[in-house]
Amino acid sequence: MSKIFEDRIFRCGQSNYIEDEILSVNKTHTDDNLMAIADSGFNGIWLRLKLRDIVPGKLFQEYYRSSDKYLRELEKLGNRASRFGLKVWPYMTEPLGMKASHSFWKANPELAGHTTQIYNEESQIALCSSIQEVQDYLHDGFSTLFKKLPLAGAILITSSEHVSNCWAHVLSNPNTYPVPEAFWARKCRCPRCSKYSPAKVISSIITLIYNSIHSANKRAKVVAWDWSWNMHSKPPYKEISELLPKQVILMGDFERGGKVKRLNKTNVVEEYSLIYHGPSPRFKSKTDYALKQHRPLWARLQVNTTHELATIPNLPMIVSLYRKFKFLRESKASGFMGCWNFACCTNTLNTFAAKELCGKKFDNNQKRWLTGLAKKYFGSQIRADLVVKAWYGFDRACRYYPIGGNNNFLYFSPVNEALSYPLVLNFIGIPMGGSWVKHDFGDRLEDTALTYSLKEIAESFGKLSQRWSDATDIYEQALAAGKVSERMREEFGVAKIIGGTFRSTYNIYRWYLLRHKKKTQKMSAVELDIIADELANLQATLPYVEADQRAGFHQEPQWRMFDAESIRQKITLLSRRCEASKTYLTR
Ligand SMILES: [Zn+2]
Repeated sequence: MSKIFEDRIFRCGQSNYIEDEILSVNKTHTDDNLMAIADSGFNGIWLRLKLRDIVPGKLFQEYYRSSDKYLRELEKLGNRASRFGLKVWPYMTEPLGMKASHSFWKANPELAGHTTQIYNEESQIALCSSIQEVQDYLHDGFSTLFKKLPLAGAILITSSEHVSNCWAHVLSNPNTYPVPEAFWARKCRCPRCSKYSPAKVISSIITLIYNSIHSANKRAKVVAWDWSWNMHSKPPYKEISELLPKQVILMGDFERGGKVKRLNKTNVVEEYSLIYHGPSPRFKSKTDYALKQHRPLWARLQVNTTHELATIPNLPMIVSLYRKFKFLRESKASGFMGCWNFACCTNTLNTFAAKELCGKKFDNNQKRWLTGLAKKYFGSQIRADLVVKAWYGFDRACRYYPIGGNNNFLYFSPVNEALSYPLVLNFIGIPMGGSWVKHDFGDRLEDTALTYSLKEIAESFGKLSQRWSDATDIYEQALAAGKVSERMREEFGVAKIIGGTFRSTYNIYRWYLLRHKKKTQKMSAVELDIIADELANLQATLPYVEADQRAGFHQEPQWRMFDAESIRQKITLLSRRCEASKTYLTR
């Protein structure tokens, strides 16, 4: 039987998920980075792998010719990581499809399954897993991979995310997925897979991979991540799980499916959340099932931060972290994956808290544990009672954050770049860019207001930023009692940057409400007040951004969304506009 928190998976924040991260893996995973991950309490790192890059087999050998390079890099990384007590876990979405224009399809049209178009990207075709040739490729590929490399196991997603099978983007059960993506199909258009249930197709893939891996390495683990399985059935997804070998680890998303109340509306959370404590009823049903069936269980959660605000090192939701880990301990979870391809900063208050929460002893008294953590992290000189008060204050402030319902606010709002996002005089209707990809500033904030109205978002951030600021004042008072340390400077700075970001978001939305239909350059007194408020906010936040290189960097696109320079530019622009307006008014 596995031990509680036996596997604690994290990731190197310098690794580039979007580009080919394996070829540069030994450059990004420096000894210092590996050591910092281990010091932060983790014993595994995950990387994205495509099977055909490493083991192309007969099917792909003509198109993928660098497998030796990949193997060399991964072997070297495995050896280096093991020196720091870290195991390597590939995250895979096999059998991974390809763009419709790929020459592979001309040569192998019979292997094509369902076609999907994700947003406005080029269409992709699934590699049909019901065909023997594809099954042979998977079997030989995985057994070779695990024969050649000392990998700890494989983490598998089989729904949504990538085109990983013929049912991956087909919503077979609209009743169990309350807010589906618009581009998902309602019917599987593969002549073979459409004859089977999605549960059968998904479980067959996982079982095949499990058997293949185990033919090479009996100790390697297979993790079946239930991301978006609710496209097909109700949690705990017995239809799929019961078809899987008993040793397959069931990994559930800790918060997805939870209900939150905002502005008198109850909405379902369909993303990771530090703001919502969870566990969601969906995850809870999964843990009950795993316990009853004696199946190993992992949780997928974010230790540092989420899409709620991804451009800071950590969101200090320490109360939330305590509750999450307390539940996981009670559920005998044998592991967790603590980050996605962002939120991977090491040695933060949050990673420190998670490390403590995974320790042998556990304090069931929440407040006492929080007080102890405050002293351990900041030193005994500080006012631990006030630190805890500030943490509760942050937690309560975030009850105004507009989560739940459609993820459009989380994915498209300017919150991650709010400190550099311009307050323009005239709006031209540029679509908002996704926060996880490089983009120019959009100006069509309606894109972000599908679940909550623009006015509701503005009001929520007004309340949130005020309450966050009040809690930050308590934090300042608490930490002032101790001798200033690097940890205090960093953590207090992070809280200030978050507060500044929430205030800017408030100003962005209320500015938009007043101005987006205006054609004039003239500003009203209320509009000038917003600019004055934003200027004061930026000036107060700037020193903390200047002092923290981590601020503003989004690790998913490996792109800086704000920095001291972009804030200074915004200050200059807004100051000029204020001056010009005064001249205009006094004339
Ligand atoms: Zn198929």
